[in-house]
Amino acid sequence: MWKIEGIPASAGIAIGQIVHIQECVHDFSRTVTPEEAPREKERFLSAQQVAETELDELMERTAATVGEHQAEVFAAHKLMVQDPCLVEAVFDDIETNYASAEAAVETATQSIASMFASLDDEYMRERAADIKDIGKRLMRILQGKVEDVKYEGILVASDLLPSDTAAIDFDLVSGFITALGGKTSHSSILARAAGLAAVVGVGSAIDKLINGDMVIVDGHAGLVFVNPEEAMLEEYRQRLTTEKARAVALAEVGHLPSVTVDGSHIEVASNIGTPADMKKVIAAGADGVGLFRTEFLFLDKTTVPTEEEQFQSYRAVLMAMPDKKIVIRTLDAGGDKQLPFIGGLTEANPALGLRAIRLCMVYQDVFKTQLRALLRAGVEGNLHIMFPMIATLDELVKAKALLKEVADELAREGIAHRSDVPVGIMIEVPSAAVIADILAEEVDFFSIGTNDLVQYTMAADRMNEHVAWLSDYFQPPVIRLIANVARAAQKNGKWVGMCGEMAGDPLATPLLIGLGLTELSMSTRCVPIVKNLVRQLTVQEAKEWADHILTLRTTSDIKKNLEEIATKFDI
Ligand code: PEP
Ligand code: MG
Repeated sequence: MWKIEGIPASAGIAIGQIVHIQECVHDFSRTVTPEEAPREKERFLSAQQVAETELDELMERTAATVGEHQAEVFAAHKLMVQDPCLVEAVFDDIETNYASAEAAVETATQSIASMFASLDDEYMRERAADIKDIGKRLMRILQGKVEDVKYEGILVASDLLPSDTAAIDFDLVSGFITALGGKTSHSSILARAAGLAAVVGVGSAIDKLINGDMVIVDGHAGLVFVNPEEAMLEEYRQRLTTEKARAVALAEVGHLPSVTVDGSHIEVASNIGTPADMKKVIAAGADGVGLFRTEFLFLDKTTVPTEEEQFQSYRAVLMAMPDKKIVIRTLDAGGDKQLPFIGGLTEANPALGLRAIRLCMVYQDVFKTQLRALLRAGVEGNLHIMFPMIATLDELVKAKALLKEVADELAREGIAHRSDVPVGIMIEVPSAAVIADILAEEVDFFSIGTNDLVQYTMAADRMNEHVAWLSDYFQPPVIRLIANVARAAQKNGKWVGMCGEMAGDPLATPLLIGLGLTELSMSTRCVPIVKNLVRQLTVQEAKEWADHILTLRTTSDIKKNLEEIATKFDI
């Protein structure tokens, strides 16, 4: 037996035989004669058309089998296939160098991919995989091959490309191992959504794996055991059986009331990215939506989404759970989520730049269109509006004034809308956490965004693996800021929740409840796990633990204490 270490990309255990996803080996002539050049351009254009049709089909298939959100990657691929820069590069190579269509596609996609791969931003680096995928698709079409792959077992690949993952039959595949990739790569996101075990970023170790090798993929620890001994196999088989039984039992708990032993109601809500996610939210038994990231409506679009388009999306979410609280966050674009229609803004430090509410204040038309759509949709359910990245009181006052302006406009126009929607803010900038007492007077609620609060408090980029040890929500300064926010909210009679990753971590649940949070919003998969724990806690005891944790001086002391507390419960 031998062991491979990698990045734990998707928790879970998979046991089985590995299969390498074969890269197609292409044999083609690299150049053509000058007379043949126009024909190569035609060949490229027809391959482009076939690729678009294939991507449309993939989009439909993935939306039906995995989810709308995961299908969106193929919409992005379609845009990339149509990208004038790609077409220009291919045509140029054919015209100038008499390259064959295959050679031109290979050269163009490889050069765009290397450009992406060299960027600092992890998200942008991951896009290199998309470009390679497009190159592979166009190449296959040019060579007259059809897509007919079906994989089985545990997949091994240098990087699992989105079109590979679309070909996966989830009844036959239980996990995967990739040489490249990080936690935010498509393959990792897909693995988590589909509940597959995955270890990524293992490097050249995949070359030593032979088709048919028996492996254990431990997606919790980021380990792969190759050809393990029977005793280890048996141990992992038992863990797998326990995990499966646990998931079935917890699924039922998800639908029970989220009430502590001493009778306090703690809302266990879900974070969503598109209206299609609501099916899973309802199935998991969530108490509502604590964060709807509305960016999906805006990113990858060439024009601003219309008021009607937005209205239909917000309405769909509200109508899916008409009696539950739905917190919709206004546009959090900018930073690493650039909007194509807002124009080439280059900032040295985009995370500290024109992002979220700051961007909306500059592009007020875009912001007001969203607010109009929200207030109109508000008629349908229990809408709460939340502003992201608020750092000062002025920003909040201005955002509220624009909301009022929009409500007055709708009233004047005689358009049905709700004018008394509760308004809250995300607390994700340390300045806001420090002046929470001032902000609390102006809001109906707070929701703490630990993903950014940690990044800005610790001055550690949330995407940068080199400072990962600082990016920890159990850092004492982060806990103190959360406590400050909770105190300020309580003093002003406002509720305080959390929608950052910390909210879905059961280790944090006793602390957060002890600090006074009454709403926790998380990825849908965590809902039953956290609800199950909430139902075993008493607020009184949690408060005592939280008071003690606030006196601890290091992250490791805090974690040790919380781990000790966790042993008292069935998690
Ligand atoms: C956060 O910052 O914690 C948060 C929930 O927002 P996002 O992850 O969308 O930045
Ligand atoms: Mg954030």
